Parts: sequence; structure tokens; C-alpha cells
Amino acid sequence: MANIPIRLRCPNCSHIERMDVTAPLAMWSMPNNFTLRVETSTTSASIAAAAAVCPNCKISFGLKIQSKSAGTIDRILKSTSSAEVDRSLYDTSVTTFPKNKSDITHDKNLPSKIRNAFVFIQEDAINKRNPAGIMSGARACLDVALKNLGESDGGRRTRINKLLSRGIITTSIAAWAQSLWEEGSDAVHDLDAEIDRAIEHVEFLKLFFEVAFGLPARIALASHEGEVDPTEITLPSA
Ligand SMILES: [Zn+2]
Repeated sequence: MANIPIRLRCPNCSHIERMDVTAPLAMWSMPNNFTLRVETSTTSASIAAAAAVCPNCKISFGLKIQSKSAGTIDRILKSTSSAEVDRSLYDTSVTTFPKNKSDITHDKNLPSKIRNAFVFIQEDAINKRNPAGIMSGARACLDVALKNLGESDGGRRTRINKLLSRGIITTSIAAWAQSLWEEGSDAVHDLDAEIDRAIEHVEFLKLFFEVAFGLPARIALASHEGEVDPTEITLPSA
């Protein structure tokens, strides 16, 4: 079975690129009774263990691919293109061993226009490169997100404040936005952008996306499935 091309961050040197992952070394079906059973069939497996070698530092590491539904691992294994692998990966969580220090937000609850772009922006931030690209990318992601949340009129800070008054974000997030985003035309000289400031924009977006898209979707799902009482979920304090 051919290797699977997956974009990964090396847990040893933090280098990010599409790496050849071995076909699963072992697979398990999702446990109903918390007893894992090693699978021989790809269609019923929802957890797979594999390995990769980082092309940058040449150190190998392990990874676990876990999907919510059976069939996803099978789709990944039968993919004929990188794009197909990427699409199936939205339904999974990929953990590397040793663990990465901080994970890239790859939330399927994000609007699709943002999802791919934001992964690349986060990668640039982790690799501390391309501050100008991070800044313009972050701005584009925020604009799409605001539009998606029903705010298409006015400057970015005005629209963010409207989200605050609608109760979608907290006071602390709105306050942070005040220091980051320009009102009206973009006064930031992107080509002079500093990497630290660019990274702060990415950190803001991570929190903003989590509160505006990730958290509400997970609360809705949890209350729908009756797994979690939504009143027990604590929101970040304002
Ligand atoms: Zn490496």
C-alpha cells in the first residue's frame, strides 16, 4: 500500500510540510465498551497508527489518526490525490508522538473559505516567516468570518463591536480587537510588518474563531447528543 501524503508539523524540529506517512501499522475500530480491537478490515477502522520521517531533520515520529466515523480511514487509504486526503482529514484528529507543543487549528466548523487559508497562515506563524502574508491573510480570514456572522457593513472594529453587542463574543475579545484591527482603510504597511505583530493577529483569530464558530457548534452537538449539559460548559470570562 502506498504512503499517504499528509501535511504535518515535525514534533522534533517544528518543520511543516506534506510528509509521506506509512500506510497504517495498526488499526482499531471505535470502542463502544472502551475495549480496543485491532481491525483487519479498513472499512470498520476509525483509529490508525502510522509513522513518518521528517525530511528536514530526518528523525522519525509516530502518529495516530482518529476519526469520528468508520469509513474515513478507508477513504484516506484509498485516496488517489493529496486533495482527497486533505478532505477526509477534516473528519479526523491527527496526533503526533512525541506531541507537538501547540496544535494548528483545523476546525471543521470554520467556514470552508477560511479553513484551508488559516492552516497556511498558522504554519507561517509557527515557522516565523512571511509576516506580510500573515497580515493580509489574517485580514481576509477575519473579513470572511465577519460576513459569515452577518456583519458586512462598516470597519472591522465596528463590526467586531456589533458581535459583542449581539453576545457572540466577550468583552475581552472585543477589547483585544481594538488594538489589532484598523478602522476604515488598511493603514498597516504590510511589507514592513513585524513577525511578532503578525503572530499576535493569528493568536487573536484562533481565539475569535473558537468562540464564534467552534464552541457554539460543539455545544449544539453536545446538547443534541445529550452527552453534555450545555449549562456545564464554562465560557471564557469577559
Ligand atoms: Zn523534523
